[in-house]
Amino acid sequence: MSTVSLRGAAQVLLPPEDGLPYLRRPGELRLEPGSVTVSGGVIAALDDDPAADVVIDVAGGAIVPGFVDCHTHLPFAGWRAEEYEQKVTGVPYEDIARRGGGIAASARALAETSDEAVLAQARAIRAEMLAHGTTTFEAKTGYGLSVEGELRLVRLARELGPAAVTGLFAHAVPPGYRAAGWMDEVDRLAAQADVDALDIYVESVAFRNEDLDRLGAIARREGVPLRAHVEQFNANRSVPVALAAGARSVDHLACLHPDDLAPLAAAECAAVLLPGAEFLGAEETAPGRALVDAGAICVLATDCNPGTSPVISLPLVIGLAVRRYGWSAREALAACTLNAAWVLGMSDRIGSIELGKRADLVVLDTPVEHLPYRFGRNPVRAVIAGDVVWQWP
Ligand SMILES: [Zn+2]
Repeated sequence: MSTVSLRGAAQVLLPPEDGLPYLRRPGELRLEPGSVTVSGGVIAALDDDPAADVVIDVAGGAIVPGFVDCHTHLPFAGWRAEEYEQKVTGVPYEDIARRGGGIAASARALAETSDEAVLAQARAIRAEMLAHGTTTFEAKTGYGLSVEGELRLVRLARELGPAAVTGLFAHAVPPGYRAAGWMDEVDRLAAQADVDALDIYVESVAFRNEDLDRLGAIARREGVPLRAHVEQFNANRSVPVALAAGARSVDHLACLHPDDLAPLAAAECAAVLLPGAEFLGAEETAPGRALVDAGAICVLATDCNPGTSPVISLPLVIGLAVRRYGWSAREALAACTLNAAWVLGMSDRIGSIELGKRADLVVLDTPVEHLPYRFGRNPVRAVIAGDVVWQWP
């Protein structure tokens, strides 16, 4: 591994102090001019090394931690662009579903696609994510919709090589099952599959709070974190159930009930907000400002999936979050670096610029405030993951 000197940045994004697992006051992140030296794959100095093998001139730009995308639905097969056009031109979701759309369409595509083709698509997406600064990502199962299909997805997800594989075995109730009957299969899948976390989609069209409670017991038995897709389209009051079950994160929250905000903010449970899904689905807007003000562990992710959020770019997600939640650039950056790393149980190794941490770094060609402001532009000029792994061509 070479020694890399990132030299002369206008801003280096630094935590208020070393060793914090997450930030409840993300505005306390510091932005200071400086340089960073990478050696042996770790952050070796917050300074320039004149003898470095590789020098990247960051003049006028910023050095920030590599982005952590802790909520994606990779791997999946194909896209659903025709469905998106139907949706925005006013075709009701029930009609789209009746024509075979929705999660069922992705499940069908997956079943009809070879392992090699599924992995090739996922790796191409993964390369695009890297070029937008994502150095760590999570993958979920969920489009298998059968015991064999889900076990296949666990295997494919492992092969893709994310930092964490989440078993979203309770994504949609497969044909021929009722929710409770499928939860028996989920119980067996969780006991047998090699996953790093368990996840469930709680919504009127999917699973119920009692299934969430049951998955919490399964996750405790298996010794893995519980995560949950909740309050996306309706206030189902799933947050208290998730908190009682000890969830690591509750994701979506566009319809978070006001009474559940303070308990969530006080809990050691992340609020994972997905503004790409909110925007493209014309959903409600999660109370991002109120969550930060209340001290919640706020997180941003792409929710990359072929249905509701075909989004790979965390810079774009930061732009949406800043505008729609009323966040500062610093608050948005904390949400997709250190706080997202905590969701994956990795914030002791990645997520912030600290001596000895893994050298996952992104070089921006502008100060961080330009990132949300010049909306939709990719400001990433170099990505370091131990070594330089990507540079603007
Ligand atoms: Zn999701």
